[in-house]
Amino acid sequence: MTYAYDDTNIFAMILRGEIPNSTVVETDHSLAFRDIHPQAPVHILLIPKGKYVTIDDFAANAGPEEAADFWATFASVIESEGLREKGFRVISNAGEHGLQEVPHFHLHILGGHAMGPILA
Ligand code: IMP
Repeated sequence: MTYAYDDTNIFAMILRGEIPNSTVVETDHSLAFRDIHPQAPVHILLIPKGKYVTIDDFAANAGPEEAADFWATFASVIESEGLREKGFRVISNAGEHGLQEVPHFHLHILGGHAMGPILA
């Protein structure tokens, strides 16, 4: 399935170096950076550099090298931010019902304190 990717989205601008970001780790295929409006003491966004709109787009269409890089980067962020011992939360908003603001697939990695319930 084809997903229509909008090159003007803000994460595409970050990847092109057009606006600054607070980088946590960067690899050949992935970038992790701090959310500009953190919702927890640790709030990191992890994105693939490839043009994927949503998590299901990435799951269906990413190549094995990109996918492996993405998950290795995820593991390295959990390690480097010290999130393994106490735990963390991962969220990926997708599309209209998911209230996705930025149409470039991203994981929110949240940690550093106990989360509330997510029942909405
Ligand atoms: P979404 O609703 O899952 O698409 O969340 C988009 C996230 O991107 C929000 O948590 C925003 O605070 C964050 N965000 C938007 N612009 C920037 C930026 O320039 N740098 C870092 N985070 C951003």
